[in-house]
Amino acid sequence: MSEAYDLAVVGAGVHGGTVALLCARAGLRTVLLERGSLFREASGVNAGTLTMQMTRVALIPYALRAHAMWAGARRWLGHDVGVVVCDGLSLAFTEAEEELLAFRAGKRRDAGAPIDLVSPARAAEVEPGLGPGVRLAGHCRVDGYANAYLTGLAYAAALREAGVAIRENAPVTAVEPSDAGYALATAAGETIRARRLVLAGGVWLEPMLAWFGLHVPIRVLINQLAVTERLGPVMRTVVGIASGLLSLKQYPHGTVVIGGGWQGRGDRVRGAVELVPESLVGNLRLACHAIPALRAARLARAWAGLEAETADALPIAGPIPGCPEAYAIGSVHSGYTSGPYIAALLADRILEREPALPLFPLDRLLPEAAVPA
Ligand SMILES: Cc1cc2nc3c(=O)[nH]c(=O)nc-3n(C[C@H](O)[C@H](O)[C@H](O)COP(=O)(O)OP(=O)(O)OC[C@H]3O[C@@H](n4cnc5c(N)ncnc54)[C@H](O)[C@@H]3O)c2cc1C
Repeated sequence: MSEAYDLAVVGAGVHGGTVALLCARAGLRTVLLERGSLFREASGVNAGTLTMQMTRVALIPYALRAHAMWAGARRWLGHDVGVVVCDGLSLAFTEAEEELLAFRAGKRRDAGAPIDLVSPARAAEVEPGLGPGVRLAGHCRVDGYANAYLTGLAYAAALREAGVAIRENAPVTAVEPSDAGYALATAAGETIRARRLVLAGGVWLEPMLAWFGLHVPIRVLINQLAVTERLGPVMRTVVGIASGLLSLKQYPHGTVVIGGGWQGRGDRVRGAVELVPESLVGNLRLACHAIPALRAARLARAWAGLEAETADALPIAGPIPGCPEAYAIGSVHSGYTSGPYIAALLADRILEREPALPLFPLDRLLPEAAVPA
């Protein structure tokens, strides 16, 4: 029989990676099973924006703490993830966007985000690269971005240093309760045993939860991103718009990453994605409208990735009902921003420490009949 671990984590993105890291550092013998390579799905292909202005109001307290974690990544993760902390602007170009911005900024400010509404003149002082037509802007002093590619390298090194048994190219095909916890079957025909279990499968959390007979619909968004060639300085903040359909920032080496959730095509079953040119062009037009210097830039590359969202757009982070010492985490829009902190809360729960903020129970997403009494 194979060695039994204290904890098996299935899925190596920011959620699974953080839980595995913190639990291993606390002394649990931990195995991290990943279908492909570490941090190659949403956590490795995202835009890296660490922003409060696209974060759900209920998540602001979590995202603020996570922002501090990202900014201090060198300290607790032990490796650089290329974080730049800077101002963020959310723009309104139309009357409807102005109303939306004022409403959403107010709610986020009430939840603790340091967002002020500023005039077009003040917005242009904060971001001299802005184009004309801005009617109002939300200015947040806690914004910034990380480098998603570096994040994967940093976590891989930290996980190894913490002694996590990393199993790449090891898709888990089924999980069964067993005497001492759980037995995980891999596609290679191996059985891995562990006392505790964490499912952290991003958009694949839905099929993972089906292993326990639970049906939790997880929406799949196919987000497109594009990056320009290296440019001289054209902007110095993170720029978005009130509707959420734009996210822009220039990395220190000069490239500008353009996103905002414009949709491509793809699906969870094949895991494949395909760009939709008209959608990409819409995104680029909006980017050039916000920062006119981008009109002269050439695109270097565009890609897409799969982002998960629950029915109430809040994360899952908590026990799996009816399954002792089994937990699920993930499935939240803009989950890279808040991921490390929410995963740290779940690690606390697993380690029998009181989480500092409430978790996000899974049973709220289940029909009443499916929740064990
Ligand atoms: C293009 C794009 C841009 C984004 N931009 C931002 C942004 O700027 N800011 C922000 O805050 N958020 C952003 N997001 C969202 C953010 O990336 C995600 O919310 C977050 O990374 C999800 O992390 P995760 O660990 O839950 O999932 P993932 O990173 O998807 O990790 C899940 C892992 O589970 C593995 N897995 C699945 N099934 C199995 C199995 N059977 N066995 C073993 N392993 C399995 C997968 O291979 C995958 O590696 C973006 C997302 C995308 C796609």
